[in-house]
Amino acid sequence: MTPAEPPLALLAELTHRCPLRCPYCSNPLDLARASAELDTATWRRVFNEAAELGVLQVHFSGGEPLVRRDLVELVAAATASGLYINLITSGIRLDANRLARLVEAGLEHVQLSVQDADPGCGDRFAGLAGAQQTKHQVAELVREAGLPLTVNAVVHRQNLEHLEGIIDLAVMFGADRLEVAHVQYYGWALANRAALLPSRQQLDTATATIDAARARLAGRLIIDYVPPDYYAQRPKACMGGWGRRFLNVTPSGTVLPCHAAETLPGLHFPTVAEASLSDIWYHSAAFTRFRGTAWMDEPCRSCERREIDWGGCRCQAYALTGDSARADPACALSPDHVLLAAALNEAQETAPDFVYRQHTATAPQRERTPQFG
Ligand code: SF4
Ligand code: SF4
Repeated sequence: MTPAEPPLALLAELTHRCPLRCPYCSNPLDLARASAELDTATWRRVFNEAAELGVLQVHFSGGEPLVRRDLVELVAAATASGLYINLITSGIRLDANRLARLVEAGLEHVQLSVQDADPGCGDRFAGLAGAQQTKHQVAELVREAGLPLTVNAVVHRQNLEHLEGIIDLAVMFGADRLEVAHVQYYGWALANRAALLPSRQQLDTATATIDAARARLAGRLIIDYVPPDYYAQRPKACMGGWGRRFLNVTPSGTVLPCHAAETLPGLHFPTVAEASLSDIWYHSAAFTRFRGTAWMDEPCRSCERREIDWGGCRCQAYALTGDSARADPACALSPDHVLLAAALNEAQETAPDFVYRQHTATAPQRERTPQFG
């Protein structure tokens, strides 16, 4: 087997707390509580270990990283370790003073999420009244601070009609880059799949809209586009391959090859308290389980694309087939590809109400009883 190379990037999930409650959130259904979160000193050690391992970039994520009161200290710690720092945020509660302190501590890039172009729809998808208005203010602050800005837009059945508006919004914000990504169906998104899956026609229209915008805005706005797996003929190389490019540390310190990996049964993912990042990356059973091609069965084992897409997504394989070692059902060569057709039929029916994300101790909140504010 080819020896593993060092990871390029660390996704630091500082917290699962978030003022928004997006129904497509990729956080797990069992959200970590504040009391379980790693403290400042432990994150400082994690950043040092990541840099020693060869990591170049850290993406501060969550949940909403801004809810961490020690965020400025954490940015300073990652800077001291020599890491390039990107903040992935909804922007809620970011003001000029805090942004200035984050920049002083070493923040280099901001990715701002938008839920829609229409304020009413944006607030509805975010589950928070006034959320959309905040985006305008935050985009302005980021530009004034001189930081590069990426706008992240997760698209789905209920906001694709506004894709043109989302592109216009990114231009209005002065963004350098727009990432338009179809929902990936894990966590809360899987629970809301019937409300989120687009139709084939919506997908085709969206692809044409993106192509036209790329031509129109060339040199002004870079547009990245992540199409939905459910309409694919071949899967994506999920995370660039299991344990090949990225590692993810959860709010409570579990080290994962991707943010959804904890859904897989039968694997023990070590925490940063149990071993160093280097030990976990190179030697843990969890990281070596699906690295490379040795684990593959047919049809992947003899497929010419096995070192291109690495068999697709393990979490999607498990979510749809109950077996994490099968080919990703997004692949048309997979005997399980038919499972996607059944799910796509759901997209033809009336969309059910959203199930908003929440902590498990709270009563389930359906769309008709959202708590705004
Ligand atoms: S997807 Fe929405 S709810 Fe989930 S962390 Fe991001 S902003 Fe918060
Ligand atoms: S058979 Fe496996 S390796 Fe080949 S394209 Fe499909 S998922 Fe990728």
